[in-house]
Amino acid sequence: RCHDLLGTPICGACRRPVEDRVVHALGKAWHVEHFVCAKCEKPFYGHRYYERKGLAYCETHYNELYGDICFECN
Ligand SMILES: [Zn+2]
Ligand SMILES: [Zn+2]
Ligand SMILES: [Zn+2]
Repeated sequence: RCHDLLGTPICGACRRPVEDRVVHALGKAWHVEHFVCAKCEKPFYGHRYYERKGLAYCETHYNELYGDICFECN
């Protein structure tokens, strides 16, 4: 409750207050280590991510699932 009053963001993954570095993505707040690729569950740690249908993906898995650009020949 007190966290709500202080306006501490709540992590969208673990539902606990984010005390230090917060990532704002997909309309939620996340611990940096809890904002992960929906496929491989690796944290992005500030790296680029790709959003689709409310989920975040690393470049590899976004392309694997939705990409229409071939890595081999573009
Ligand atoms: Zn968290
Ligand atoms: Zn991934
Ligand atoms: Zn190709």
